[in-house]
Amino acid sequence: MVFAMGATSHFIKRTALRRGWVGPLAFTIALVATASPGWGAEQQYCELYAPGHFGNWYEVAGENEMRRVLQEAKHWGYNRYGDWFDTLDCVNPFSGDRQYSLGNALWDRKKAHFRTAQDLGLATDLIITPNHVYRDQLAPKWLAESGGRVFGQLICPRKPGGREVILSNYENLFADLARAGVRLTALTAAPYDYGGCNCERCKPWILTFAELTADIYKIARRHHPGIELHFIGWWWSAEEHRLFAEWMDRHLPGAAVSMSLWIPYGKTSVADSPLPANCRKHAFVHIGYADEAEPRDVYGKTGPVIAPARIEKTVADLAAQGVSGVVAYSEGIFDDVNKALLAGLWSGRYRTAGEVLAGYAQRYFAADRKRSRQWTGWLTLWGRPFGVDAVAARRSFSRLPGGPRDWRWRQWQLKADMFAAHQAIVAAGDEWTPARLKRAAEFFYAEELLQREVYGTGPLRHIFARKFLDLPWYASWRKHTQQVH
Ligand SMILES: [Zn+2]
Repeated sequence: MVFAMGATSHFIKRTALRRGWVGPLAFTIALVATASPGWGAEQQYCELYAPGHFGNWYEVAGENEMRRVLQEAKHWGYNRYGDWFDTLDCVNPFSGDRQYSLGNALWDRKKAHFRTAQDLGLATDLIITPNHVYRDQLAPKWLAESGGRVFGQLICPRKPGGREVILSNYENLFADLARAGVRLTALTAAPYDYGGCNCERCKPWILTFAELTADIYKIARRHHPGIELHFIGWWWSAEEHRLFAEWMDRHLPGAAVSMSLWIPYGKTSVADSPLPANCRKHAFVHIGYADEAEPRDVYGKTGPVIAPARIEKTVADLAAQGVSGVVAYSEGIFDDVNKALLAGLWSGRYRTAGEVLAGYAQRYFAADRKRSRQWTGWLTLWGRPFGVDAVAARRSFSRLPGGPRDWRWRQWQLKADMFAAHQAIVAAGDEWTPARLKRAAEFFYAEELLQREVYGTGPLRHIFARKFLDLPWYASWRKHTQQVH
């Protein structure tokens, strides 16, 4: 009901802007929308951006598993679902090759998940990084100049033929989604990670990116009438925001519906960046790490993550900054609690992180009101995991309600196991004695159970690779054991 009411005021606001109602009426409507309980409609814009790649949970999830996760996401307050076809390691699935390879498998799965999201009533958003192409399109004559923020399977859209390759890729993707019955509601573009070209002709990249995106948007509209154009401000500089806003106002006025501004690690608010006219200010919220950025507890490499203090503060700070929508950046189900925290607070359903956590324990661990408080206290500690007495936490965990057959329960048990081993390794000095090696083996045993039995993840690549494990003893253990991972 709150959503329906909000949607109406949102419609009126948009109409007012489009029709140029700039008098007291529009002002009054804007005030009402901003002050309404439950944050008003625009503030309820809440997207779960769940890229399936690198062997993460989304990449390997079956259709039924994904439906369950999206149903729960909707329960907590998400109303949009986004995915990115990260073409890394993939050859062109539309090349006509009769082999059904990784690119085909990943793309078909994405189509299925979009259909599921659509059936559940969620808006559907294809995220793109325009000049990131398939591996078999990396012809030397087209290669982009990389360096700094620019890396990946990139070709230059200013080199003869390069732009055509990029546009044909999007023609294929949008047409294929439409054939599969997916009616995309949004296209969201990001210039970096993976994207960009440092060549002279592409400078400044942000404008080349804007031009390229405008062409892709035209293709998208042909296959998905009414599709909206959004942007993600991940890694943009202040100067890039300024150039981009000017360019959009001149060439595509009113087309940019929102800009999800980047919140750097450890921060809880967005920078005051210039935006194109009528472009809504949204925020890209990284839910894959704990309360603090350092020491790193990120991407599930050291178990599930929780950030009750950070997310509560982020929601409050963003609201104070007039941010009207959030995009949760999620890399798997290890951030399940953070998913609930962000949407539960952003939607206005819950007032505090503690209330969300109590609701979470009641929903998933069959805890009554009293026992849900035990869970709330236990989980909250892990917001700062490196300060937890893991042995004590492991002991008290066995007294919490819930059961070992449930993945939400089991992931926290294994997190406590991993940290108990980690703390013992740190406490045992610098030498790799048999006892200390045994602790390391316990750590990796718990890690493997988590990855294979609980999450069922695939071959983990890139940010998820063990070689990037950010624990102080890891490099020396690797050297000592001459491990290849
Ligand atoms: Zn270039």
